[in-house]
Amino acid sequence: MAATSTTVSNTENLMKYMKLDQKGSVLAEYIWIDGSNGVRTKTKTLSKPVKDYKELPEWNFDGSSTGQAASEDSDVCIRPCAIFPDPFRGGDNILVMTETWDPDGTPNKYNYRHECERLMEANAKHVPWFGLEQEYTILDADGWPYGWPKGGFPAPQGPYYCGVGTGKVFCRDIVEAHYKACLYAGLQISGINAEVMPSQWEFQIGPCEGIALGDHLWVARYLLYRVAEEFGAKITIEPKPIKGDWNGTGLHTNVSTAEMRKEKGMKAIEDACKKLGERHEEHILVYGEGNAERMTGEHETASIDKFSYGVADRGASIRIPRQCAQEGKGYLEDRRPASNACPYRITGIVMETIFGGMEG
Ligand code: ADP
Ligand code: MN
Ligand code: MN
Ligand code: MN
Ligand code: MN
Repeated sequence: MAATSTTVSNTENLMKYMKLDQKGSVLAEYIWIDGSNGVRTKTKTLSKPVKDYKELPEWNFDGSSTGQAASEDSDVCIRPCAIFPDPFRGGDNILVMTETWDPDGTPNKYNYRHECERLMEANAKHVPWFGLEQEYTILDADGWPYGWPKGGFPAPQGPYYCGVGTGKVFCRDIVEAHYKACLYAGLQISGINAEVMPSQWEFQIGPCEGIALGDHLWVARYLLYRVAEEFGAKITIEPKPIKGDWNGTGLHTNVSTAEMRKEKGMKAIEDACKKLGERHEEHILVYGEGNAERMTGEHETASIDKFSYGVADRGASIRIPRQCAQEGKGYLEDRRPASNACPYRITGIVMETIFGGMEG
């Protein structure tokens, strides 16, 4: 990949310093979700290694600079909720996923994790598992898909999905680096593949139980943005980055419960599909911004205003995988969420719809 000196960090030079001894200090990269669906981070020096997020102090940031607070009362608190090994700094250094809290002791407007965790705890006995397929598009410094002719288009879709070879795939280096970084961080990443539109890729996180899915997926997004930085590339999770006859970008959500996974679980899967159909509009509201452009009924999507489910049907809102139908148990795939949806909101509303919001 061509490097332009103005946009690409000088990683080779940096490595010299990354190897220096930290003299016992440990660096904790606190990660939070901002007011525009992005991630922000800042680093804290700790005096010793930690084994559990509960050992970490709360911290705060200037919410008026992230669209999360007014300038008169701008402190937003970040509370650690999960830790992961840091693949960039290595050693005992860690990544810290946090929740945002306002000074009055209520969750920040953009803290969707708190409610999600409540729903997961209320329904823990159903042992919900989630597997999300995060699609995304890699752009060059000018904001055009990486490897596409400047101001023009590549040949029509066909050879790119799971493609191999020059001209069929772009930026495999970024994708491989991200995969390794996720594994190092201990994320439950279950696979990757090149997607239908050139420079569009997918990684899957899961199966993860309960709140862990949202934590792992947000950290995987952070790692992707951070890795792409070093290659001078931009990542977009917009649902329809290129208008016209190019596939949109989704966040297929695979869901199962203890009842669905056991013998004759198909009844529980079908019951869940029916309940999901009754709250279609409410789900669409939290399934991502700009999703109407993607869910046209073409390019392997259902139309945004019609709910449907079916076995092996990639044009339905919800697909029951063929293998599950054959075995009479397994999981369902909600194909509606857009790539920019929040995994805490998706998995939360799925629990609420299947089981109700209260303990059940
Ligand atoms: P697709 O065939 O739709 O492209 P993928 O293989 O990309 O599917 O993704 C399937 C996802 O479903 C993976 O993240 C996987 O971990 C997850 N998954 C598999 N079994 C279950 C299950 N029983 N419950 C929830 N998620 C599951
Ligand atoms: Mn909480
Ligand atoms: Mn997939
Ligand atoms: Mn896909
Ligand atoms: Mn899928």
